[in-house]
Amino acid sequence: MTMHDPQRLRRLPGIDRLLAGAADVIARHGRHATADALRAVVDEARTSVLAGGAVPDDTTLLAAAAAYLEARRPPPLRPVINATGVVVHTNLGRAPLALQARAAMVEASGYCDLEFDLPSGQRGSRAARLEPLLCAATGAEAAFAVNNAAAALVLVLATLAHGRDVIVSRGELIEIGGSFRLPDIMAASGARMVEVGTTNRTHGDDYLAGDDAAAILTLHPSNYRIVGFVAQPSVSELAVVAAKRGVPLIYDTGSGLLQPTGGALKGEPAVAQALRDGADLVLCSGDKLLGGPQAGLMFGRRDLIEVCRRHPLARALRLDKLRIAALHATLQLYASDRRDEVPVWRMVTADTRGLLERSQRVVTALRTAGVAGEIIEGAGLPGGGAAPDTALPGPVIQLVVEHAAELVTTLRTAAPPIVVRVADGRVLVDLRTVEPADDEVLSDALAAAIAGDGGH
Ligand SMILES: *Cc1c(COP(=O)(O)O)cnc(C)c1O
Repeated sequence: MTMHDPQRLRRLPGIDRLLAGAADVIARHGRHATADALRAVVDEARTSVLAGGAVPDDTTLLAAAAAYLEARRPPPLRPVINATGVVVHTNLGRAPLALQARAAMVEASGYCDLEFDLPSGQRGSRAARLEPLLCAATGAEAAFAVNNAAAALVLVLATLAHGRDVIVSRGELIEIGGSFRLPDIMAASGARMVEVGTTNRTHGDDYLAGDDAAAILTLHPSNYRIVGFVAQPSVSELAVVAAKRGVPLIYDTGSGLLQPTGGALKGEPAVAQALRDGADLVLCSGDKLLGGPQAGLMFGRRDLIEVCRRHPLARALRLDKLRIAALHATLQLYASDRRDEVPVWRMVTADTRGLLERSQRVVTALRTAGVAGEIIEGAGLPGGGAAPDTALPGPVIQLVVEHAAELVTTLRTAAPPIVVRVADGRVLVDLRTVEPADDEVLSDALAAAIAGDGGH
């Protein structure tokens, strides 16, 4: 053991001397943070020297400070290859935007005519740019877009029902992710929630409860189903009750499906149909099945939309220029019958034959690299809390590996990161949610990761 020797401690450099040689670190992390990090590593070195360790040189201390800062620097958002088959994957950023929407965001990112009418030189309205497209897509009389669907609901309740009763079925007191719980949203908006019916059965007459009703609210149970002995009045039946009471019917459809659709999403409520069925206001998300940026969309009666638009909260919940640009471009695709250029739709409706061909190419490439994979019957999911009992059947690649958990971690930390699905210890790769242009990157990364894993 080396004895404590104050002479050795004195050989540790001062912070100023280290800073003088830290130009690269300062350029990346700033002078203040670099000085803090250097103090931390020199403190650590002092402890180590006191315990008999060697005195580190300046280069070592600078490298330690750089590593310290790197480890604490929150990484930026990184693009990820989503091979899970879950189309609207909340943890992976929900909807991948259409190329047109991405380009529109870049275009709008400098100065733009957000609230400026170029021909007249007068002040323009940011909302006016979206409303005609939203109305055209759904047949609504009026429409308005805010930050997200939760915000749309808060705004509508605060505007129409502050301090008054809102009637809602006990079967629809939904939670969507930890932070969207209907009773909490109601409370935050200042509306008084009047629960009616039971968990499994609610009838039209139940909605006659409440002395000071301001609205009837119905919500699509987008992420769960109640099955068995169940009853819930249809939207048209509720519209009759609401009209009888003289209050608006508000319908939160959730997913952002604008027009009714066939196929796997046949049962998903559409905004256009909800309006035809008599809902006075229909709310939905802009980034689930609509496939646009995060947004909350409100459609329906002009008088109701107008009071919501004028509420002070509308200003707090408004969209910025980037999302207006992306939403505009996405809606433009719907308006020109080019829904298939919205990635969410391309993925939800991807045909089996195309998926099979792509999967076969990937499996062949893997085999060439000495990796075994087979194609099985699998299923993707719409995701994002839309249609929880709806599978999107299609071919899926199953990888034959010994250490599934290790492989999944390796793939997640690859460049670019790849997220796959694991089921019963099997690793599943679903090309439904992969851009075809990424297939080759994906198969190369899979081959490298599995070879590195020593699996096969
Ligand atoms: C997803 C969802 C919401 C919340 O949407 P956000 O845009 O995430 O706020 C609200 N209501 C229903 C029925 C939903 O499915």
